[in-house]
Amino acid sequence: MCEVGNLSKIAVVGVGPRGLGALEALVEQCQDYECSVAVDVFDPYAFPGAGPNFSPDESPQCLLNIPIRDIAFRAPSFSNCDGFAGWLGTSPDPDSFPSRADLGRYLQARYEKVLAQNTVCIKRLSRSVDRIRPCAGGWQLDVEGCRRGPYHEVLLTLGQPKTEPDEQFAEWQDHAERVDACLTNAYPAKHLVEQAEGWSENTVAIRGLGLSVFDVIRALTTAQGGRFHDHGYSASGREPERIMAFSLTGKPPFPKPETGRIDALFDPLQSETEAFSQALDEAIESGPQTAAELINAVLAPVVGRLMQSLGVTVATKDITQWLETEWDSPDSYETEGPVETLRIGIELAEGSRAPTIGFSIGQVWRKWQNVFRSKFNPAEVDAGTAGAIVGFDDGLKRYSYGPPVSSAREMLALINAGILDLSFAADPEIRLTDTGWLLKKEGETASASVMIDSVQPSPDLSKIVDLLLRDLISQGLVHPVSEGLGAMTDADGRLLTKQGDPLAGLCFLGRLALGSVVAVDSLDNCFGEDASRWAKGVLNRLTAGDGVAA
Ligand SMILES: Cc1cc2nc3c(=O)[nH]c(=O)nc-3n(C[C@H](O)[C@H](O)[C@H](O)COP(=O)(O)OP(=O)(O)OC[C@H]3O[C@@H](n4cnc5c(N)ncnc54)[C@H](O)[C@@H]3O)c2cc1C
Repeated sequence: MCEVGNLSKIAVVGVGPRGLGALEALVEQCQDYECSVAVDVFDPYAFPGAGPNFSPDESPQCLLNIPIRDIAFRAPSFSNCDGFAGWLGTSPDPDSFPSRADLGRYLQARYEKVLAQNTVCIKRLSRSVDRIRPCAGGWQLDVEGCRRGPYHEVLLTLGQPKTEPDEQFAEWQDHAERVDACLTNAYPAKHLVEQAEGWSENTVAIRGLGLSVFDVIRALTTAQGGRFHDHGYSASGREPERIMAFSLTGKPPFPKPETGRIDALFDPLQSETEAFSQALDEAIESGPQTAAELINAVLAPVVGRLMQSLGVTVATKDITQWLETEWDSPDSYETEGPVETLRIGIELAEGSRAPTIGFSIGQVWRKWQNVFRSKFNPAEVDAGTAGAIVGFDDGLKRYSYGPPVSSAREMLALINAGILDLSFAADPEIRLTDTGWLLKKEGETASASVMIDSVQPSPDLSKIVDLLLRDLISQGLVHPVSEGLGAMTDADGRLLTKQGDPLAGLCFLGRLALGSVVAVDSLDNCFGEDASRWAKGVLNRLTAGDGVAA
């Protein structure tokens, strides 16, 4: 037990991976400051450290989108923490993709270590914070009917709080209730697995063809007893009669290169990465058009060189043209249909097909994500430029955040087995019927009695319905960077007023700060420089004695 006495008090609200990364950074930084702090950590979730996306009790069918060879987020310097592969204790195949539940168990173990260290007194409260208000001496928290505080500093790491359903989903909710059809969510996948046990005579439609669709498909197939093997898929008979998946573009994401050897073929040179870093310095100080030109100018020649080394000659101007189209209208350059896109993606990932411009750009862009963040996140970027860069990064996720190639092969095997149907994949017309939904595309129709939503909500602040955040917005403490983006924060994560002034001691890290920060949806970011800057900022303010809210 530690004595709290006159220690500076910090509250961390939400302790998924990002809250854990912040705590670890604080403990590490505290060793360099003559400052004693006590931290109260608030989160009602059963698995602190892991959070809902890496919940240890989630279905083992939900895979991480990073192969073991690339899991590089750092372990803290204290408590002899191993990296994930070391912690597993076995010698995992470096090209394999672990389950998110296993990663969650690892993060929980790290959370236990951060609680057990002796530098910072950390107290866990399994409670939800309902309201935060400025008060004399800092910030006061309403915690399930009790007042706590004052805290000198509060950090919010809330992940993706509840949002209002989009128009289509809201209409479907009413409809499903009226006609007694089943409308459900992709997560928790363990619930979906249970629900799907009664669907062997149903046609199931899935809204969304992003990464989550692979978790959903496994919940409907292998989790129901089916088996993939070298020649395809052996059904258990408990899968839905037919599965249809669709999205606005109808294209599944491109899988990551299958092996470390293939992946290394897309490694930029150190000098090219330095040139990108310098171009970013200029881009983030420019308007959106110039920013795009600067980024294109460094990206295009690197992609041209890599493709050339793989036997494909493409003029830099053609790559630039691809990029220009991507900035203006993401995912409009390639026109192949859903199944063809899936096949091409598999061949690209296994290296049996010459790389395309898009695939090559996506791999280089993935390898530059850390540099990208390290330049953008601490900078003050014009809202228009931030919006354009966020849009560009988001569009490229179909290449840079791809699934394992095994997941793409599974999808193809299910199509070949006549279980999965992508004929309605590209933006079908959807009608509501007495039994559920009718999908219509090019004169063909198909009915579904179950609809699964696998679309992840946007970080648009105006759509948030979570009470804590709504209240912070209505108190004028949280402002969006611009319409459709997340909260305005500074380099340390401090929330900014509408006029751009930092709020003393109220900080926000993560997805809902998109626009102030980029490339947030990744573990690298949870344990990266954003957390260290926050910790240094807090300790600088506390040691200077200016951490108290007005
Ligand atoms: C389905 C899915 C799969 C993903 N897979 C990957 C992947 O494979 N690889 C990868 O790098 N990234 C992945 N991501 C991105 C992922 O979101 C981040 O890597 C990470 O989970 C973000 O962590 P976080 O701590 O910001 O948010 P979360 O993990 O969501 O944690 C937020 C925490 O805040 C708590 N909280 C919220 N409101 C309050 C309140 N008022 N009071 C107290 N506590 C509160 C919640 O209970 C929760 O525990 C995935 C995301 C999703 C949605």
